[in-house]
Amino acid sequence: MAEAGGGEEYLFKIVVIGDSAVGKSNLLSRFARDEFDHNSKATIGVEFQTQVVELDGKEIKAQVWDTAGQERFRAVTSAYYRGAVGALIVYDISRKSTFESIKRWLDELNIHCDTTVARMLVGNKCDLENIREVSVDEGKGLAEEEGLFFIETSALDSTNVNKAFEIVIREIYDKVS
Ligand code: GDP
Ligand code: MG
Repeated sequence: MAEAGGGEEYLFKIVVIGDSAVGKSNLLSRFARDEFDHNSKATIGVEFQTQVVELDGKEIKAQVWDTAGQERFRAVTSAYYRGAVGALIVYDISRKSTFESIKRWLDELNIHCDTTVARMLVGNKCDLENIREVSVDEGKGLAEEEGLFFIETSALDSTNVNKAFEIVIREIYDKVS
């Protein structure tokens, strides 16, 4: 965490991790710009986006990092994780395999970040109820086991996207303030 200005301004680095195509980039664009992209193209260029959130009258800059598709090659670098104080660990509720990868992502997070990082397990694409492969209870159960917050989101219809980020930001803020 970096603190700037007269102690009234905060910058929180938050990383978004999870298997390829679970919707990480779209969660970020929904949060930062209220946009959704139907074409799944690999993320290019942008490393992070910053969104300003107000909490208790204080300005918080959430600097949310997106992988540039390196997760395909299991090659997310330590620079990506460096300095992170929050993490969204994302799976796709319509693809069980992405849920089964969560433990591996948590291991990777634990290697690079200390245990104080605020962690949110995110089951994305909850609009795809008709082809759901991971139940809400399975998501909740894993989150309880691993000590994570849990939420289901849809970057497509906006369900809970802001809430997911806001809960993480609130948790980080409560730790540092
Ligand atoms: P990333 O590889 O994890 O960054 O995933 P993307 O954000 O590129 O999304 C992968 C694909 O899933 C794209 O075709 C998106 O349009 C689609 N997608 C992302 N979020 C959602 C969602 O909440 N609901 C649905 N139905 N599709 C989504
Ligand atoms: Mg992406």
